[in-house]
Amino acid sequence: MHKPSYTGNLRPMMNRKLRILIVEDEVAIRTGLTDVLVYHGYETDFSAEGPEGLNKALSGKFDLILLDVMLPGMNGFDICARIREQDKDQPIIMLTAKTSDEDIIQGLGLGADDYVAKPFSVAQLVLRIQAVLRRSHVTQEMDSQIQLGKHISIDTVNLSGQNGKQPIQFTRREMDVLQYLKCNDTRPIPREELLNKVWGYSKNLDIETRTVDIHIAKLRRKIEIDPKEPQYLITVRGAGYRLVTE
Ligand code: CA
Repeated sequence: MHKPSYTGNLRPMMNRKLRILIVEDEVAIRTGLTDVLVYHGYETDFSAEGPEGLNKALSGKFDLILLDVMLPGMNGFDICARIREQDKDQPIIMLTAKTSDEDIIQGLGLGADDYVAKPFSVAQLVLRIQAVLRRSHVTQEMDSQIQLGKHISIDTVNLSGQNGKQPIQFTRREMDVLQYLKCNDTRPIPREELLNKVWGYSKNLDIETRTVDIHIAKLRRKIEIDPKEPQYLITVRGAGYRLVTE
């Protein structure tokens, strides 16, 4: 298969590959997509039929779902609607075949992030995938510096910083947490979301959210002037953690 010669210009913000689920029953399209996406640095999984595709999609493990319409067992429109019931933010691109699909898309307002009509150019599809991921905040052009107030500066590339005159060092995971909070600093982030987006844990897994709290406590000892009275990495009661940079 022809590999597009350009490379994506996005850096995954987390220290892991972005995961794409391909729900497509046509072997040729599925394997072609898998090849190209792996070539572009994504991790892929697939399903060749509707119900299994839905189950995988609902696992919360995927950064993006490529969803065919005509599938055995359950069609892509129904799958899309079911995903949206559970997760309104899950990035989805639908691969539509028939021109009549246009009417259905219009009528249902299914809320996929994008629709790509078959036959599609693979290079175009990769660009659309990158655009959707960029919008979904899964990937961002990250700042190499984070400044908190006047006294705390953080170098995200070298995992280091200064708290006043005190040098600080971060682990990769701590920095991933910090960067995710920084990317989303307009809202508090629930622990479950951090486990999912930073650790890559499935949303349906009942994992100890204490893991998150331990990392937050460690971060506070590094970036707060008084870790007992956090002013930058604050707890929003009942909602999660939020990074306040000023
Ligand atoms: Ca199909």
